[in-house]
Amino acid sequence: MIIYTHNDCFKKFNGQGHPERKERLESIISSIKSSNLKVDFKDAPLADLETISLVHPKEHIEQIFSNIPKEGIIGVEKEPYADTLLCSNSKNAILRSCGAGISAANDLINKNEIAFCAVRPPGHHAETVRANGFCFINNIAVSARYLQKQFEVNKIAIIDFDVHHGNGTQEIFYKDQSVAYGSSHEFPLFPGTGAENETGVGNIFNATLKAGLTSKDFFKIFDQKVLRPIDKFKPEVILISAGFDAHKKDPLANINLESKDFFKITKNIVDIAKIHSKGRVISFLEGGYDLQALSESIIEHLNGLKSHI
Ligand SMILES: [Zn+2]
Repeated sequence: MIIYTHNDCFKKFNGQGHPERKERLESIISSIKSSNLKVDFKDAPLADLETISLVHPKEHIEQIFSNIPKEGIIGVEKEPYADTLLCSNSKNAILRSCGAGISAANDLINKNEIAFCAVRPPGHHAETVRANGFCFINNIAVSARYLQKQFEVNKIAIIDFDVHHGNGTQEIFYKDQSVAYGSSHEFPLFPGTGAENETGVGNIFNATLKAGLTSKDFFKIFDQKVLRPIDKFKPEVILISAGFDAHKKDPLANINLESKDFFKITKNIVDIAKIHSKGRVISFLEGGYDLQALSESIIEHLNGLKSHI
């Protein structure tokens, strides 16, 4: 298994007290290094604008980059969502977070190797022409489009177990039958989308979770409303938006998953990939804001991914 990351991803600074901080990635990487998991670390390359434009218009990305300040931090959205921020080191962090997924797609198809993209900023809130929710480029969406264009993969499923709804991923694929999007998320919660009657062209599967939900109830809902429809869809590749903020310790949400639950979630996804997708999965880091929960959950997740063999 490959872990894509890069030093540039540690350099994006969102200001003191911001939950999306470099310590998240430090905690993940040190936890992987001190585990007995056999992984290869690879540097995430910079994504090229041409590939990004499979999802986002070039002018939109250029506009974001033109707002990058020489010093200090500026927001790209107005109140009350003024927490999607750019600092002077943002450009390469954004491009490498996307580049990780492109490179992982190449490894998956050419070498049958699976990867986890340990990158920041995350991507699932980024819409076609709107950065929000700490996200600028929708890393997983670019990877999906790249797999379709470069390798003629027809049907791709994106499974998103971050506690927040991936409004960006849903918006990008809302009318696209070739991509199924299944998401479990606390509802109501930021970003406010993801109601169960948002079904796209029959390709969107939203599972809403009530605040205070326990593991047992989570798995019932996740199985019925996300895994079963994805299983029926028979994807050729499964991409995972892996957020760990449904953990009971997470400060941004109110779902009560335990660290070990992330093994079971991942294993269940991989089991579907084994049936329909030759075990082909790529996982992308999205949210997760409690460092202890992250360092434990990531090992569970990677052990689950490993079960693809
Ligand atoms: Zn989240």
